[in-house]
Amino acid sequence: MAKLKPPVEKNEMVELTFEDVTHEGDAVGKVNGYPLFVPYGLPGEKAIVKVLKVKKNFGYGKLMKVLEQSPARIEPPCDVFYQCGGCQLQHMSYEMQLEVKQKQVKDALRKLGHIEGIPIHPTIGMEDPWRYRNKVQIPVRGVEGRLETGFFKKRSHDIIDMDTCPITDEQNDRMVEAIRRIAEDAGIAPYDEEHHKGTLRHIMVRNGKATNEIMIVLVTRTEKLDYEEKIVNEIHKAYPNVKSIIQNVNSKRTNVILGHQTKVLWGEEYIYDTIGDVKFAISAKSFYQINPTQTKKLYDQALKYANLTGSETVIDAYCGIGTISLFLAKNAKKVYGVEIVPEAIEDAKNNAKLNGIDNAEFFVGAAEKVMTWWKAQGLKPDVIVVDPPRKGCDEALLQAMIDMKPKKIVYVSCNPSTLARDLRILEDGGFKTLEVQPVDMFPQTSHIEAVANVVLDV
Ligand code: SAH
Repeated sequence: MAKLKPPVEKNEMVELTFEDVTHEGDAVGKVNGYPLFVPYGLPGEKAIVKVLKVKKNFGYGKLMKVLEQSPARIEPPCDVFYQCGGCQLQHMSYEMQLEVKQKQVKDALRKLGHIEGIPIHPTIGMEDPWRYRNKVQIPVRGVEGRLETGFFKKRSHDIIDMDTCPITDEQNDRMVEAIRRIAEDAGIAPYDEEHHKGTLRHIMVRNGKATNEIMIVLVTRTEKLDYEEKIVNEIHKAYPNVKSIIQNVNSKRTNVILGHQTKVLWGEEYIYDTIGDVKFAISAKSFYQINPTQTKKLYDQALKYANLTGSETVIDAYCGIGTISLFLAKNAKKVYGVEIVPEAIEDAKNNAKLNGIDNAEFFVGAAEKVMTWWKAQGLKPDVIVVDPPRKGCDEALLQAMIDMKPKKIVYVSCNPSTLARDLRILEDGGFKTLEVQPVDMFPQTSHIEAVANVVLDV
């Protein structure tokens, strides 16, 4: 067969109309059927694009000029949107963001799961889709003798000099700047990545939205933190809702932000937050959902689909610190949570105690192994909730669910592609997907979260 050559060449200028958006937030336009992925384009727009990269089945391009602008195009509120890698969709109206996310779930289910003709509901969005992030982790670097904080430029470790991040909680945003100033005045050496020298690597700030408590984490290369007392005193005296100041030591050359060792410098080891009427203790290293307003909506949706009456046995697989388990426990007879990270399970157990919940039990292990074991032991859950990472459920776990035949599966997903793949396997195993509800957990970014309501097809 003749080799089929892509119809474009590198550096060529082409004119095209964008039809769609990828899950990475790039616009997609075609040249004679050959798709080009172009950041910052919008569906419906006609544009001139410079071809940057040509692969066999698709290519990448740069938006050079918009010839016909979409009514959904807006001026990104953030000054550094085009340099920073954090957000992908600030140039798109929020209304369109919600539509695009709903469509992506719909398309994934149809193309990858062969599931059609069921309701994929409009995405549940935020009333105010800004300043929602309850946690910020900002790198610290020395620039011309000053201490600078800011996100990394896309695909680089150069810091963008920025005043504010409009998706970060305003208070946390201001705290980063306050701590930067205090650390600079005290004379702390910023981390020098190239030579692996200096002290302060990252400033992390997280808050409990419901409690207004703040935790500060200073991530340092060395255990020794010069001027520790001065810094700590200045922070908690000036900001009374700071309840916890932690040092985390990360001595490695790595892109991973937190190291193993944490030490309380001042105050508590935990701050607290509540979702609905469940209270959570959050430590420096705990995984905790970053958008508490939408988390409540997501969990309410999971609870609604679980349709509990109080007599059910429930499994919560990939349970993290037990957030969904504890949310469901009040309406169930018994909840079993399973999660691979031991510290998360410690948190889950503590959180159960904190809330006086005694019908939730937590286990450390790979969900696929533990579930297979439970199945062998004859455990018969009425409802299984899964909330896996982006790569979706392990096949052994899907098989265990199919064999256990629960009446209901509630699938919480952060990746429509693996959701679609897994729903197909469940459908082939005797289940039926009734409906899917996308929930926007990460406005301005291309991340998509969705909950699927799946029942045993009898
Ligand atoms: N349900 C939780 C966390 C979901 S994030 C919440 O809403 O907060 C997905 C979780 O799956 C993470 O905590 C991750 O550590 C865990 N995980 C990843 N692979 C796993 C596996 N094979 N078995 C069990 N848990 C796993």
